Amino acid sequence: MTAHANAAELIRCAGLSRTHGSGAAAVTAVRDVTGTLRPGMMVALTGPSGSGKSTLLHLLAGLDEPTSGTITWPGLGGSPFGRPGIVGMVLQGPSLLPPLDVAENVALPLLLAGHGEKEARERAGAALAEAGLDDLAARLPEELSGGQSQRVAVARALATRPRLILADEPTGQLDSAHAAVVGTLLLDATARLGAALVLCTHDEALASRLPVRWQMADGRLIAHEVAAGAAADAVTRQGSIVVEGELSC
Ligand code: ADP
Ligand code: MG
Repeated sequence: MTAHANAAELIRCAGLSRTHGSGAAAVTAVRDVTGTLRPGMMVALTGPSGSGKSTLLHLLAGLDEPTSGTITWPGLGGSPFGRPGIVGMVLQGPSLLPPLDVAENVALPLLLAGHGEKEARERAGAALAEAGLDDLAARLPEELSGGQSQRVAVARALATRPRLILADEPTGQLDSAHAAVVGTLLLDATARLGAALVLCTHDEALASRLPVRWQMADGRLIAHEVAAGAAADAVTRQGSIVVEGELSC
C-alpha cells in the first residue's frame, strides 16, 4: 500500500473482533469487521440494540482494544487514545459535567488538548457561537433541556476541530422534533469542519440524512450502502468514492 493510499484512510480495520468476558459468559460484540473510513465520510451506523454499534464505536475511538484483528488510524497519525482533541465524541445520555457551566464544559477538551485558558475560553465561545448557543454559555447543565444539553455536547465535541466525530445515539433520549434539531447541528457542523462522522442511531429519519450506511447485526457489518443519488462529494468532501466491496461483510 502506498503512502498516498494510507493518507486517504482515516481508519482501517482488518478482521476486527472484540469479545467481552471469557468462557461461557463470553460475548463477541464485534466480529470480523474489515473496512475503511475515509476523510470526510459521513456514516450512519445502524442495527438492533446489542448488535455491537457502541463496541465498534469505542474501538474506532481507540477507547477499547480488539481481541483479534487490527485497527490502525493512518489519517490521524496513530491511535487517538491518550491524545485529547483528536476525536470528538457525543454520547447518548447526559455527558456534561454538572459543576461546570456550558462555556466551561465546551472549553474542557481544549484545556485537555493543551490550549491555555484564554485560548480555550475564546475557542469555546466560538464553538458555541457557531452552534447558535451563545445565550446558554453561563448556564449550568441542570438548567438545560435535553435537546439543549445535546446541542452543547455537539459543540463540545467540535470545539477542538477534530477530523473525526463519533456519536453514539446522540438523539436517543429526545423526541423527534428535538432530535431533528440536534441532528441538523451535528451534520452541518461536521460538514463545515470537513470532519468524518460515524453516527450510531436507531432514528431512521436521522440515519437517512447521512450519505453512507453501515448496518450491523450480531457483531457483523452486514451491509453498507451509499444513498441513491448521493454525489461522491457528499460522501466524502475529499471526493473519494466508497467502492462496492470495500467493507467485507
Ligand atoms: P449496541 O450499541 O448495538 O446496542 P453493544 O456494543 O453495546 O451494542 O453490545 C453488543 C453486545 O456486547 C451485547 O450483547 C452487549 O450485552 C455486549 N456487551 C457490551 N459491552 C459489554 C461489556 N463491557 N461486558 C460484557 N458484555 C458487553
Ligand atoms: Mg449502544
